[in-house]
Amino acid sequence: MNSPLPYADLLRDASDRSIHYLESLSHRAAYPSGEAVRRLKELAAKLPSHPTDPFEVLRLLDEVGSPATVASAGGRYFGYVIGGSHPAALAANWLSSAWDQNAVFEATSPLGAFIEKVALEWILDVLALPPDWCGGFVTGTTMGHVAALAAARHSVLADVGWDVERRGLQGAPTVNVIVGAETHTTLFKALRIIGLGTEHVVTVPTDSQGRMIASKIPRLSGPVILCAQHGNVNSGAFDPLPEILEVARPAGAWVHVDAAFGLWVRAAPERAHLAPGLDQVDSCSADLHKWLNVPYDNGLVLVRASGRDSLRSAMAIDAAYLPDEKSRDPGRYTPESSRRARGVDVWATLLSLGRSGTADLVERTCRFARQFGDSIRAMGYEILNEVESNQVVVAFGNDAATRAVVAAIQSDGTCYCSGTTWHGRAAMRISVCSWATTQDDVERSLAAIERLAHLHAPPRDGVRA
Ligand SMILES: *Cc1c(COP(=O)(O)O)cnc(C)c1O
Repeated sequence: MNSPLPYADLLRDASDRSIHYLESLSHRAAYPSGEAVRRLKELAAKLPSHPTDPFEVLRLLDEVGSPATVASAGGRYFGYVIGGSHPAALAANWLSSAWDQNAVFEATSPLGAFIEKVALEWILDVLALPPDWCGGFVTGTTMGHVAALAAARHSVLADVGWDVERRGLQGAPTVNVIVGAETHTTLFKALRIIGLGTEHVVTVPTDSQGRMIASKIPRLSGPVILCAQHGNVNSGAFDPLPEILEVARPAGAWVHVDAAFGLWVRAAPERAHLAPGLDQVDSCSADLHKWLNVPYDNGLVLVRASGRDSLRSAMAIDAAYLPDEKSRDPGRYTPESSRRARGVDVWATLLSLGRSGTADLVERTCRFARQFGDSIRAMGYEILNEVESNQVVVAFGNDAATRAVVAAIQSDGTCYCSGTTWHGRAAMRISVCSWATTQDDVERSLAAIERLAHLHAPPRDGVRA
């Protein structure tokens, strides 16, 4: 083909290979074979002294790399909490990679800045959050925590007359941090990164589903940041924000919520009641690459209108050579400065799904989770959580039996489910959050789970329904 551009044929090759890969997902194993992973060493030849033909670069990557990928873009991957990539988002992501925009400032990419603003407004709209909230697109919930907690740190210290951006934490008043007993590990990572550490963290007990028990929150005084959670990483449970806010508000605490995936129940009318009170908090962080099915990596920090100056102060970038802000510079709301135009993928996802498609994605995956729970219980095994959203926690008898079944499911490859520990017991976790999962995927997965569970952990007599 006679092409005017040096990379036209190369991009067509990349497109063909990508399509072939995505079409192979319906019949390939959910997890790569040991042999495929061992072959990765073919990518580790000595760095050549001469250039390599780009077609050859792509061929090698596809032939060695593709078989070693985890099939999390397919419909039978239920490990960790990992979504796929919605088709419109993937396509928009390709186009925006070609654009190669730096969306730190409006001046470096008017398009990048504009589309992020629109995507943010759509998110607030579809989630019924106040339209005057501010925020930004980050790499994931971890960086969302970093940004939100830095804003929180600014705010609670400013309240006692301490300018944390200028003076740092050296000699600063103590900031008390309150968390639930089942807080996600990334929140502690963020606390360490922003210098609050973990020594002053007070832990509030949780209930049978992992929800913070609001009546057990200690008396609050001084600078306080309270971190709640919407979407326990195992059970999917939601902390009772209205009760938590009743305790935290009078004490002047900043309330932050880890809503990594739970945020999205607000988009589904039948599930929104699970997450009340989020519109009243000071900040939250969430992932877009999980349940919304935006390609990696994409996450969100949101801060209520009254906290805007705190976020801006915490994320400030000032230098005489940088452009003045005319409308909204994305990089003034996030830890990252130079950054890709993350909002493009979000905009494309939400435009292609619309309000009803977003609601349907959430509702459908929740229904599949319910089906997993009901069917596995009917096979004679225990469901350890109340399946209200997209997470199912399963035990196949004692810990050894459960671990054996999880290992068998993972090596069988029909589907992939993670092992976990739930309230002291070994368990298997099924997280349904991909747009790609179909009824057929659920049934094929259930058949494999039943076959392998009966082999490695036959249900006790009489337990089977
Ligand atoms: C996934 C997850 C996180 C971390 O998100 P990253 O995208 O990995 O930064 C935090 N909290 C919860 C509840 C999660 O499920």
